[in-house]
Amino acid sequence: MLDESELPRQWYNIQADMINKPLPLLNPATREPLKAEDLAHIFAAECAKQELDQEHAWIDIPEEVLERYKYYRSTPLVRAYALEKALGTPAHIYFKNESVNPLGSHKINSALPQCYYCKQEGTTNVTTETGAGQWGAALSYAAKAFGLECAVYQVKISMQQKPYRSSIMRTFGATVTGSPSMSTRAGKDIITRDPLHPGSLGTAISEAVELATTTPNCKYTLGSVMSHVSLHQTIIGLEAEKQMEKAGEYPDTIIACFGGGSNFGGLAFPFMRHTLLEGKKIDFIAAEPSSCPKLTHGKFEYDFGDEAGYTPLLPMYTLGHEFKPANIHAGGLRYHGAGTIVSQLLKDGYMRAVDIPQTESFAAGLLFARTESIIPAPESCHAIAATIREAKKCIETGEEKVILFNLSGHGLIDMTAYDSYLNGDLTDPEFKG
Ligand SMILES: *Cc1c(COP(=O)(O)O)cnc(C)c1O
Repeated sequence: MLDESELPRQWYNIQADMINKPLPLLNPATREPLKAEDLAHIFAAECAKQELDQEHAWIDIPEEVLERYKYYRSTPLVRAYALEKALGTPAHIYFKNESVNPLGSHKINSALPQCYYCKQEGTTNVTTETGAGQWGAALSYAAKAFGLECAVYQVKISMQQKPYRSSIMRTFGATVTGSPSMSTRAGKDIITRDPLHPGSLGTAISEAVELATTTPNCKYTLGSVMSHVSLHQTIIGLEAEKQMEKAGEYPDTIIACFGGGSNFGGLAFPFMRHTLLEGKKIDFIAAEPSSCPKLTHGKFEYDFGDEAGYTPLLPMYTLGHEFKPANIHAGGLRYHGAGTIVSQLLKDGYMRAVDIPQTESFAAGLLFARTESIIPAPESCHAIAATIREAKKCIETGEEKVILFNLSGHGLIDMTAYDSYLNGDLTDPEFKG
């Protein structure tokens, strides 16, 4: 743990140091690059500004946000001795435990600043989409903390798989609607085309954006994908950098699971700064599900961020905005696209990606629970599986590599997923590209 005086007071904006900057977001109608004013119609103005900032490497964390961060930060950096021993690996495995906060995932790190900026700018209502519910839960909490009303569209299938997450959101005072729903035009259109549509992050984003643009004083917020979200998440890596230094180690390999890229970027970008500025060699690995493999099997092209095509066009690795991800339990990883920063970094060879089958992810999660005594979120299990693959390679080579991975959340509200794995009911849905 870090002392209060050691807590980072700025976020790191990797865009400023990137050699090839991410390509601009485009207005789909005109194909013109978007300006901050255009984004400020749906997002808080400060977030819109941060989104397009390719100039300032360091951005001050507002005092009020720092105060809230102090409720649960710093988060622990832990060496996974028991896991190392169980694997018989010479690798040193560390994890940053982002499950230790009132909501149980890293999402709270961006929910707090987003709600803070909305409040500052005179917004009264916030809306969003959520998959498994971690983002919705984090936003509900942050909205309450800063006195905002909150409406969440939750992916229908995830709402059924994880009913307790909607209970959490409602406990913090949010309204929760399953998506696709009949409450928006986008939702009605999707249901008309496909009455049994299980919902996806894409459908829920369409509905939330529509609500934000049709409700006065209401802003849309996003828990992943966007560059300002990864910016807020860099608090993870900035702390980890100091903590690794205290441990007297430097990572050879950095691993995080990948939905839209925020926890990956959050841990990786502060370290990648050393690659960009000093040529440090670190193996950065994003772990995605085999059934939704945009980084390993997608194309780099302009695509919509949502199913209905309401968002700007984003230059990213994508499986296509109409791709329907299989109903895997890692709801937070069921997204067709990827953040524009990470997409550019992958294209330029600064990082790589691996795809992990669902059963391998749960086998890894179970081993982690039984050794490190923390039940990981199904999303985080992908990072653990990728870590185990790397640690096993070290057995063959005898290398004492230092591997750092992000434990993005705990799985205590995902126990139906563990039940189905333990009962032998879990399958590996095939990717149909
Ligand atoms: C949302 C979520 C993810 C995936 O989102 P990223 O933006 O890729 O980090 C991963 N793990 C947990 C626990 C989540 O809630």
